[in-house]
Amino acid sequence: MSRVYAVASAKGGVGKTTTTANLGTVLSMAGHDVVVVDGDLGMPNLAGALGVAPDGETLHDVLTGETTVESATYDGPSGLSVLPGSTALEAFASANAKELHPVIETLKETHDIVLVDTGAGLSDDTFVPLKLADEVLLVSTTEREALGDTEKTRQLGERIGADVVGVVLTRVNQSNPNADEVASLLDAGVIAVVPEDAAIREALSTQTPVVARSPESIAAAGYRALAEALTGEP
Ligand code: ADP
Ligand code: MG
Repeated sequence: MSRVYAVASAKGGVGKTTTTANLGTVLSMAGHDVVVVDGDLGMPNLAGALGVAPDGETLHDVLTGETTVESATYDGPSGLSVLPGSTALEAFASANAKELHPVIETLKETHDIVLVDTGAGLSDDTFVPLKLADEVLLVSTTEREALGDTEKTRQLGERIGADVVGVVLTRVNQSNPNADEVASLLDAGVIAVVPEDAAIREALSTQTPVVARSPESIAAAGYRALAEALTGEP
């Protein structure tokens, strides 16, 4: 049985793409057959985080019916499969997020785990992944504003019957999180904590996920703990 996770938060810059890339890589390293999908149709940057440079078709071409899922899927690090988006403005204008449903169904036939990165906001390209996912993984920093926006995503998920698995707190440093404040602003259990770590920025500059480039870093340990919490496997 394959599982589909939407990685979501209405707030931009909180670590959704970093989380999708690193969680996908860890799960793939552990032997799962994983595909990551760039569901941020307006600002796709998942491929870059994984060192994948699509030289041909992308998810946007699949959504407009111009190509197949298979032709737009690329090999990423550690056996991970990547379905990237197009960075062209015209591609965004012509792609319809609702067409993601058959794409995800196709990917489920060939992969154990499908991770869908999503964009900020609450528009269709967030709504559709929340709707089609088996589980929603929220991502937030511990800033009040980010927690408030992430709570909105949780509420939207709840309203449409999505199963929220919990929140990954990212960019956490010693002075936070204040657990009480997190709990008062966001009604979701904390599933993993990823500390603020310069190794993430260094990894991104070389287009490699931190779990592969700096496996000894504290951020990589946070992402391994997240994978463990999700799969129940050490
Ligand atoms: P989103 O997809 O939610 O917009 P990103 O994953 O693109 O967010 O992350 C936004 C920025 O934060 C990126 O520059 C990324 O390198 C940085 N970042 C994410 N997580 C961490 C972390 N744990 N430590 C340091 N920087 C981080
Ligand atoms: Mg992103």
